[in-house]
Amino acid sequence: MFPDYHCHTNLCGHASGEMEDYIAAALLKGLQELGFSDHLPMYWLPESERNPGLAMSEQELPLYVEKVIKLQKKYSDLSIKLGIEADYIPGNNMELNRLLEMYPFDYVLGSVHFVNGWAVDSPANKNDYEHLNIDEIYTDYFSYLQIAARSGLFNIMAHPDLIKKFGYRPKKNLASLYEQTAEIFAKSGVCAEVNTAGLRYPAREIYPSLELLRLFKKYGVAVTVGSDAHFPEQVGEDWEEAALYLKEAGYRETAVFSGRRLKMVKI
Ligand SMILES: [Zn+2]
Ligand SMILES: [Zn+2]
Repeated sequence: MFPDYHCHTNLCGHASGEMEDYIAAALLKGLQELGFSDHLPMYWLPESERNPGLAMSEQELPLYVEKVIKLQKKYSDLSIKLGIEADYIPGNNMELNRLLEMYPFDYVLGSVHFVNGWAVDSPANKNDYEHLNIDEIYTDYFSYLQIAARSGLFNIMAHPDLIKKFGYRPKKNLASLYEQTAEIFAKSGVCAEVNTAGLRYPAREIYPSLELLRLFKKYGVAVTVGSDAHFPEQVGEDWEEAALYLKEAGYRETAVFSGRRLKMVKI
């Protein structure tokens, strides 16, 4: 079975469980590989404005890295990868690159959680969707995602249609925007993440939609799979469903990473 490349730990301030709890859960589910991808410090804000309930602090980052490396040595029956989930915030690429280059990450998940400073997936902002123009926010979200993919900072674009989280769907047909996104992912050499967390939210659907995943396949974009676990028991959640979904889109292999280099592995 493919690895779970998206899991958090209590370090981020809004997940529970220590790394070893996530490892135990992965072993229990029969996974052979698990990647930690906790939230990178909020590098685009001055330290005093960073929210400890959203991401680890910059002082904690080296400890996070050390902990993963220590666990890699401790567990011989599970391959453990050092990943990180980094937000894409326009105008801060140098600072992000500086942080990413300091540590030997196996892969970097790139996420668009903020569009024009507005947190698209925050439950606190859920009601905003009632009076926003949904077609417009989808278009803005995907333009951010495209710029993020092109930045060269990320290996994998996380939950590519996160904007659907609360179940608000566009009225306009966005097929050409999706097609353009797939083309940009392919040209930029980034993977797309198949993220099962969408099933836990009103979207009731894996990220990305089957329509978008089929376009990724059409353009030759590789994929990884992630549960976006914020609790140990969510590791590898809905893996059978993800396997069927991948098959339906025509995928026969997924990508794995070491030292930010990609290798394809049969499902
Ligand atoms: Zn999180
Ligand atoms: Zn995320």
